Amino acid sequence: MEKVVIVTGGAGYIGSHTIIELIQNTSFKVVSIDNYINSSSQTYDRIEKVTSKNIDYKELDLCDKKALFDAFKDEINIVGIIHFAALKSVPESVENPSLYYNNNLQSLINVIDFCKEKEIPNLIFSSSCSVYGNIDSLPVTENTPFSKAESPYAHTKQIGEDILEMYAKCGVNFKTLALRYFNPVGAHESGLIGESPINPPTSLIPIITQTAIGLRKKMFVHGVDYPTRDGSCIRDYIHVCDIANAHVIALTKLIEQTDSLSFDVVNLGTGDGVSVKEAIASFEKNTEVSLSYEFGPRRAGDVMAIYSDTTKSKEVLGWEASRSLDEMVISAWKWQNNLSKENS
Ligand code: UDP
Repeated sequence: MEKVVIVTGGAGYIGSHTIIELIQNTSFKVVSIDNYINSSSQTYDRIEKVTSKNIDYKELDLCDKKALFDAFKDEINIVGIIHFAALKSVPESVENPSLYYNNNLQSLINVIDFCKEKEIPNLIFSSSCSVYGNIDSLPVTENTPFSKAESPYAHTKQIGEDILEMYAKCGVNFKTLALRYFNPVGAHESGLIGESPINPPTSLIPIITQTAIGLRKKMFVHGVDYPTRDGSCIRDYIHVCDIANAHVIALTKLIEQTDSLSFDVVNLGTGDGVSVKEAIASFEKNTEVSLSYEFGPRRAGDVMAIYSDTTKSKEVLGWEASRSLDEMVISAWKWQNNLSKENS
């Protein structure tokens, strides 16, 4: 019987790239769920173009438990869920914390109940390096204790992990792996798919590419007075296709895993810290486009510097990121150009 994998948030940025990897590298039947709060069903056409396969998808809001259960009432061989669907903008969460707590936590609890009741044995949870908060000792390992969250978004990821760990402690019938992403950027090498949020992006790389193509007059470096090597914040940017590939490996391992460990966490980063100024310089060097930017004040909710220790991802998943910062910015630029052509 066909094994089904559900990808929540499958029309979103990481979800869509992961569906491509699942289709190209596994025999699972993939079913995507999305409510298009920050994505569009057009993404499935893009996935179909890249993979030449039809995509099975359902429009539903995971906060609506009944809708979730109804949508899959006849599906009996679901072997895993990859739960991407969540709101993810730090500044938006600072402006509207309730939106983030309601959406990200209610949907997670419904997904947990769904796994429990439908006896779905494997759950991968999209977590984030933002769970670590501001820390003194870098790189961060999975054992680095959480500091106070810097934003409601980060807090929903901390609480989400805590909830999953507690359910595991209570003896739920499924295994959970929380993957803590550092900063996923870039786009599929085909240039046919990439980040295309409905709401204006707040992340650095889409803002760089939108500024470069003229959709924004200029952009700001948010804070140049941090005690870092050049005063701007440091992040661990990682190619979205490396992140997608890690999910396929993680899901396969989780399905094969027979020991009783029912909750674990793994960082997904490159191990390299890159400053905002360095990211801009890389973009300008690789594209030969001169970016219109200014130095601005710090952004609320930002952590100063964070990058990953990659030991555990190598040991547990046998995975490491393979694409460079240059490849990240080049692919993001290719995607931005194609998207702008499409929209003109
Ligand atoms: N950033 C910036 N200008 C922008 C958008 C982002 O200087 O227009 C900075 C932001 O303040 C942070 C870094 O780029 O220091 C990464 O931000 P992003 O939102 O991409 O990721 P996150 O803060 O969630 O790690």
